[in-house]
Amino acid sequence: MKRFILVFYCSFLITGFNLSFGQTPKDTLANHYLELAKQKVEEKKFSEANDIFKKIFALKTAVPDELAYFYGYTLLNLNKYAQSRAALNKYIMLQGEEGPLSHKAHEALIQADCKETGYHDVYMECDICYGDSTVEIACRHCKGKGVEICPLCKGSGVATASNSFGNTFHTCHRCNGEKIVKCTVCKGTLKEKIICYNCNGKGRKRIRRKC
Ligand SMILES: [Zn+2]
Ligand SMILES: [Zn+2]
Ligand SMILES: [Zn+2]
Repeated sequence: MKRFILVFYCSFLITGFNLSFGQTPKDTLANHYLELAKQKVEEKKFSEANDIFKKIFALKTAVPDELAYFYGYTLLNLNKYAQSRAALNKYIMLQGEEGPLSHKAHEALIQADCKETGYHDVYMECDICYGDSTVEIACRHCKGKGVEICPLCKGSGVATASNSFGNTFHTCHRCNGEKIVKCTVCKGTLKEKIICYNCNGKGRKRIRRKC
C-alpha cells in the first residue's frame, strides 16, 4: 500500500510538471481553437474557420503542425490560392512526405492549381538520366581520345631546368618522354559526367496536365 502511494505521488509530480511547464494557457487556448476550426472545416464553413485561425495566430504561440494543413485547405476553399499553397507546402515541409496529412496536402495542392489555372503539374522521372541527375558524354577535354598533350613539357618529351651553368635538358618526368599523358579530366575513361541537360540536374521533369 505504501508503495502504491509513493508511485501515485511520483506520477502526480511528473504530470504536475508537464502541466505547469509544458503547456501554457495560450497553448491550451490555441489547441481549443484549432479543434473548433477543424470542426468548421468539416462543416465546410470556411469563412468561420478562417476567423478562428486568425485568433490562433494572434496568440503568437507555438501551434501543432497539422494547423498548416487545415489552414491551407481552408484558404483553398476561400480561393486564396497562393496563401493556400504556402500553408500546404509548409505542412509537407514540417511533417515530410510520410506525414499523416501529407497525401491530402498534395491533393489540395493539385486542387489549388486546377481551380486557379485549369492545369496542374505532375513530376515524371527524367527519361534521359532516369533520376540520376547526371549523364555521361564523350570527354570534351580530350575529345574522346583518353589522352592529352603533356601539360608539363607541352608535348616535347623534354624538360628544361635553368641554373647558373645554363640550361640542362632531361626527359620529362610527367610523361616519361612519351609526350602525352592520360586525359586529366576523364582519367582515360573517355567519358565525362555532366549535369543532365534534359532536367537541369533535377532528375525529374515537370509536366503540365489539363485538369
Ligand atoms: Zn535528367
Ligand atoms: Zn611531358
Ligand atoms: Zn578525356
